[in-house]
Amino acid sequence: MSTFTLKNNALFAENVALTDIANRFATPCYVYSKSALIQAFESFSAGFKDSNHLVCFAVKSNPNLAILNLFAHLGAGFDIVSGGELARVLAAGGDPKKIVFSGVGKTAAEMQAALNAGIFCFNVESRSELIRLNTVAGAMGKVAPVSLRVNPNVDAKTHPYISTGLKNNKFGVAYDDALNIYLEAAKMPHIAIHGVDCHIGSQITELSPFLDAFDRVLALVDALEQQGIHIQHIDAGGGIGICYSDETPPQFGAYAAAMQEKLGQRKVKLVFEPGRALVGNAGVLLTKVEYLKPTESKNFAIVDAAMNDLMRPALYDAYHEIQAVTPRDTPAISYEIVGPVCESGDFLGHDRTLALEEGDLLAIMSAGAYGMSMASNYNSRPRAAEVMVDDETCHLIRARETVADLFALEHTLPKA
Ligand SMILES: *Cc1c(COP(=O)(O)O)cnc(C)c1O
Repeated sequence: MSTFTLKNNALFAENVALTDIANRFATPCYVYSKSALIQAFESFSAGFKDSNHLVCFAVKSNPNLAILNLFAHLGAGFDIVSGGELARVLAAGGDPKKIVFSGVGKTAAEMQAALNAGIFCFNVESRSELIRLNTVAGAMGKVAPVSLRVNPNVDAKTHPYISTGLKNNKFGVAYDDALNIYLEAAKMPHIAIHGVDCHIGSQITELSPFLDAFDRVLALVDALEQQGIHIQHIDAGGGIGICYSDETPPQFGAYAAAMQEKLGQRKVKLVFEPGRALVGNAGVLLTKVEYLKPTESKNFAIVDAAMNDLMRPALYDAYHEIQAVTPRDTPAISYEIVGPVCESGDFLGHDRTLALEEGDLLAIMSAGAYGMSMASNYNSRPRAAEVMVDDETCHLIRARETVADLFALEHTLPKA
């Protein structure tokens, strides 16, 4: 998080004071550091520099066009989960030949769009999807490149809502069924088997679940080879965690070394789908204290950002560090940091020790992933602005929504 640092008692993003960003673009506002994004991508990739590999940024973690465009320039591919994300990647200048398409519910229209774009691979999550893809590709006179997403049945040891590799999840095909589905796929005229895929969850802070899953995938790759089905790439998914408070997620280098060691001499391209690990600590949510409200049991700091802007605390009880943008030296007390939304679950942090006055700015740290991407308009709140800082320069990368935007698509009933 070195790109968000205190200088002369004021919090900066690179070389821009967050106070200046608030004055210029108002609050709430997402602020990203360009150098932190670049650094995360380069350091993830560095571990694989001697291997045939492709890093596909998981678009759903932060789909802003400027971020996609930045990663595209760095040579990234993209992991998409919808036709909307496909369109975003193409609009941002992403290379279709570096796109993998994940997700359990791909529609025929989404398959057509991806086939037309000429993507790298479909990560197929069920037998029914495989059959549909064969039909859709056939009608277009095309052959679809495919991996099966296998469910290795390993415990990612993360929050149950973001754990995807256990056999009771909706994701992927059961490990024990995978070989038979591959054999079936091998006979389909409009399916070309390219890879094997797995993704076991998100915010994983230990190496062992990745390695256990990879062992199972490699065993399947070897079994397929014996059946005469040659696998060209293995997609190991995403899910590497970040530090929100005191977690110690695997270092990229250690992860890369361990995965390559397991791969051994197999001539297979490695594909990865990191999201959070590339953007999470490259962004903060800047917010202003509207009211301080002491009550009998708690002190509330009511801020102008809310669960609609950053849903993770309300959804997963997730922890985000909260820092004063201009720390005061007056005595600090414990605050509940809450938003204006009409839900008791609308909080950004519990029991935070801060010295605050009304009008102060706060930075909700580690908000670059699953922040703006999960934002909604609940309570008819326009979504926040997004700003990218590059050294001493600020770029508005998404304008603040207006209230008029919120109901632009709505119609009242015709007069009776
Ligand atoms: C969400 C998701 C990712 C990215 O997960 P992170 O934890 O953000 O790295 C990668 N692959 C698939 C299939 C996903 O659903």
